[in-house]
This record gives sequence, structure tokens and C-alpha cells, in this order.
Amino acid sequence: MASTLTDRLSRLVKTMRGQARITEDNVQEMMREVRMALLEADVALPVVRDFIARVKEKALGAEVVGSLSPGQALVGIVNKELAATMGEGVSDINLAAQPPAVILMAGLQGAGKTTTTAKLAKHLIEKRKKKVLTVSADVYRPAAIEQLKTVTRQAGAEWFPSTASDKPVDIANAALDHARRHYFDVLLVDTAGRLAIDEALMKEIADLHAAIKPVETLFVVDAMQGQDAINTARAFKEALPLTGIVLTKMDGDSRGGAALSVRQVTGAPIKFAGVSEKIDGLEVFDAERHAGRILG
Ligand code: GDP
Repeated sequence: MASTLTDRLSRLVKTMRGQARITEDNVQEMMREVRMALLEADVALPVVRDFIARVKEKALGAEVVGSLSPGQALVGIVNKELAATMGEGVSDINLAAQPPAVILMAGLQGAGKTTTTAKLAKHLIEKRKKKVLTVSADVYRPAAIEQLKTVTRQAGAEWFPSTASDKPVDIANAALDHARRHYFDVLLVDTAGRLAIDEALMKEIADLHAAIKPVETLFVVDAMQGQDAINTARAFKEALPLTGIVLTKMDGDSRGGAALSVRQVTGAPIKFAGVSEKIDGLEVFDAERHAGRILG
């Protein structure tokens, strides 16, 4: 088990006894420990660099008060900066659109899009009292269409059938038309994912976005993806104006550094965390709690 930032710094603190301030002299060594802790939590390297630069600036000149040591003070500064970086923005789903509000789900295959679509449907039904329709635009995997049907039923929402021989844009438009005529408040559009970034896929989802003009475009990303999450996030950000992030598989044993990387690269708020395979395993993202998890 990797040591936590608190462990790392408390070792350092012993060598700093009597130093009441964070100074140019001691900050270098402390930043090295912060860097290691973030890398161990799987935050991507360029993101770590930016983050360290911001923390260093805040730490230098920060008054170390009372019984705190410079190390403890730094943990506080890092924690606060992590939470601030990950926590800005609105957490709940934006439905401020002429109904039906369309929500587009994007992400790699296996990230948890279909599961999250159903979880969100349930959330919107129970917490926001909305009438919700789902549709799958994944024409490559008939099994994915069936999977969405099953989980939509579990969520208590309605499912619009799609045919694998149709184009994703046509499927989404047909679902939108159905949603309008039957007074649905929300249409959740699940999309195809690939195992790796793929240009054709990116164009397809960008076209889909242009056709259905979603009020929310959510990027679903696996917290266990670690360092690679930054590349995935970059590619999706280039293709789509993302409005939010859902971080899945937070019940796994990753320290969740992907959250920081994805947030920094996309600029979009992290709205939800997936915490189990079950339909009710979705939580509103809590930046402060997550900062604690990254630092260990
Ligand atoms: P998609 O290909 O992006 O649609 O991904 P799926 O929704 O099919 O999910 C892929 C796998 O991840 C499935 O086995 C899901 O049960 C699982 N999964 C999705 N979200 C979570 C989560 O938050 N926690 C856990 N433990 N598993 C999840």
C-alpha cells in the first residue's frame, strides 16, 4: 500500500522541527512528497505539475498558525486546493430546456454509460419527479440496446426501441419526436463506445450532438482508468462541449486521481460518482470527501 501524503509529510516534518513557516528552503522537499502522493493516486503528470505550481504559490507566505507544523499546514492547503479544483460548478443535472430536456451520454465502452443512464433515469424520477425516456444509439452492439432496455425497466423509466440498421441520428430524432408527443420531461441518449479513441466514433457522436442539441452532455469515465483518463478526456472534450462528468466505479480501490485529471482537462464539473453496479449506486459528487481519498 502506498503511503499517504499525511504519512509522507509527517516524516518530513520531523526534520523541520522549529520551522514555523513554509519557506523556499523547505517547500521544495514538501512539494516532492505532494507530487509522489498525487502520482500514486494516478493523477496524470501534466495535471500534477500544474497543481503543484498552484499549491506552491499558495503555500509560500502562508502563515502556519498555532500548533500546526509546516507539514500539517501544507496538507491543509493541498486538501483545500484539491477540493476547490474538483468542486466548482453545479452538481445536479441541468434541465433548463424546453421539455424534453435531452441528455447525451458519452464515454468509452465499458466506462459505465448504460448503467449510468439507468441510474440517472432513476435519480431524475425519484429526486426530480420527472418522466424519463431512454434510447440507445449504439447500433454496433445489439446487446447494448437490450441491456439498456433491461436497466431502464429496473429504473422505472420508459425505453424507446432502436434498430441496429438505423443511423444513430435517426434513432435519436425518432426518440425525441416520441418524447415530445408523449410529454416526457427528459430523454437520455446512450451512445456507442469503443475500447479506444476512434475518429469515426468521435465524428458520429459530434454529429449526434449537433442533431439533438442536448442541454447536458455527460462524459462518463471509469475512475479505475487512472493515468489514461486524461487522454480519453482530451479526445471527448475536443469532439463535444461537455457539460458534466460522471466518475464511475468509485467503489473500486483506486485513489481516484482520475477525477482531478478529467476535471482539469475538460473544465466540466464532476456531477456524480458511480459507487456500485446496482441501479441505485449513484451519488452526487462530493469534492471534499474525494480530496481526502486522493491524499489518503
Ligand atoms: P458502457 O459500455 O459504457 O455502457 O458500460 P456498462 O454500463 O455496460 O458498464 C460496464 C461494466 O461496469 C458493467 O459490468 C457495469 O455493471 C459496471 N459498472 C458500471 N458502473 C459501475 C460502478 O459505479 N461501480 C461498479 N462496481 N461497476 C460499475
